[in-house]
Amino acid sequence: MCCFGKSWMLPAILAAAATVLVGSHSPRLDEYKSGIVWPEPPVVQPGDATTPPSDAIVLFDGKDLSAFENGDKWLIENGYAQVRNGGITSKQAFGDCQLHLEFATPSKVVGDGQGRGNSGVYLMGKYEVQILDSYNNPTYFDGQCAAIYKQQPPTVNACRAPGEWQTYDIIFEAPRFDAAGKLTKPAYLTVIHNGVVVQNHFELPGGTSWDQPPHYEPHVEKLPLHIQDHGNPMRFRNIWIRENIQPLVGKKPE
Ligand code: MG
Repeated sequence: MCCFGKSWMLPAILAAAATVLVGSHSPRLDEYKSGIVWPEPPVVQPGDATTPPSDAIVLFDGKDLSAFENGDKWLIENGYAQVRNGGITSKQAFGDCQLHLEFATPSKVVGDGQGRGNSGVYLMGKYEVQILDSYNNPTYFDGQCAAIYKQQPPTVNACRAPGEWQTYDIIFEAPRFDAAGKLTKPAYLTVIHNGVVVQNHFELPGGTSWDQPPHYEPHVEKLPLHIQDHGNPMRFRNIWIRENIQPLVGKKPE
């Protein structure tokens, strides 16, 4: 009797062995390369829990709010800024960006719903990521913390308790308009709240307004950032922004 058992098994075994041998010994002569000539990605020294990356524009490092109009009105102490006497608007204008900021809602809980720990960060002064104390504080879902205001609730509620420091890492793609003012690309927002993705490349149907449905009004490619005073003593620290978020563009092969 054949050592391979039934004789019809032999060809199958030889074929399998040949496949393994060829597969494991053949050199890779056909590695895929796109041929695209890429510019070298710039070197950036990354930050850590308390420092920004080396290419960030620091808007608030705990000392002063001179990067903002009306910043001199806010109370600054112990490395944070507390809302007082109106919102603040960055002196510099921004379009596409990565924004980092930290905030704390008041430790002493006062009010409820939209009246409790309310502020907001307005990209380009028009597109609000809501800031609210949504820790055991029900309100309309597209108005709770980390909502795109009145457009999209956060995927989950990742709020920390009142008084605790929280982080927002926001990636914003500004809308584009042609010369006639027609929208050619909508705005997109990605929001990471305390390390949790709560908005994932959300396409905005327009500006976030309290009293109007969202719609676009044409504007330039860069506008100032605004942080809202909604009457609550909210605290902020470590605000920085990076503009270099566009994909590198390479040269395609001829
Ligand atoms: Mg708000």
